[in-house]
Amino acid sequence: MLKKIKADLHIHTCLSPCGDMEMIPTLIVKKAKSKGLDMIGICDHNSSENVIAIKKAGEKSNLKVLGGMEVTSKEEVHILALFDNDKDLSKLQKIVYKNLKGENDEELFGYQLVVNEQDEIIDLNKKMLIGATDLTVDEIVEFIHSLNGLAIASHVDRERFSLIGQLGFVPEGLELDGMELSPRYISEKKKLDFPMASGFPLVTFSDAHYPNDIGKTSTTFLLDEMTVVELKKALKNRDGRSILTYS
Ligand SMILES: [Zn+2]
Ligand SMILES: [Zn+2]
Repeated sequence: MLKKIKADLHIHTCLSPCGDMEMIPTLIVKKAKSKGLDMIGICDHNSSENVIAIKKAGEKSNLKVLGGMEVTSKEEVHILALFDNDKDLSKLQKIVYKNLKGENDEELFGYQLVVNEQDEIIDLNKKMLIGATDLTVDEIVEFIHSLNGLAIASHVDRERFSLIGQLGFVPEGLELDGMELSPRYISEKKKLDFPMASGFPLVTFSDAHYPNDIGKTSTTFLLDEMTVVELKKALKNRDGRSILTYS
């Protein structure tokens, strides 16, 4: 049976250098539940090393967690990648790390904490996660799709680090599954409208870097199950699946 699913699929953790140290598994799950979210997506910059911990924390509280990553392209465009299968996500991780140079400057950008589901720090990631990969937007989207993932252009209304902001246009033939608009872009009537999105399905998520921002905006879908497969159908308006509301 189809159900209403309130989702915030763009949440960072303490692994992102710009993510608050409080973005730890139990707190993220607690905040998400208090905001009435049914499903969240974990998308740290160029890394998915905290995904399993948040998934385990989510299981205990009956919160669905999709694993993902926010990949930075060569052109400094952010692309959200979400997966049903951890193996597919780890394949993308290998590709991203292979194409990501440099070491993190902790003083300048912040610590990159890898944690377990009990919020204990188990490692410090030393890679330059805030940097850009050597992959083009087209290559990233192709890799995501070849691994059965969902590819959404992040915060396209922003001037920096967005597809439209960085390139000034949407490349022809780019097979994105959707475009995300920032919380500030949602209208009082809870509508999303962005002429430059060229007809791509629109979603809004929080891009939370701090606990209080989790669920700041969300998209409610009509889905049979909380999976990427079902989200893809909803974004295409297929088999009764759809985007219902923004909040
Ligand atoms: Zn971003
Ligand atoms: Zn982000």
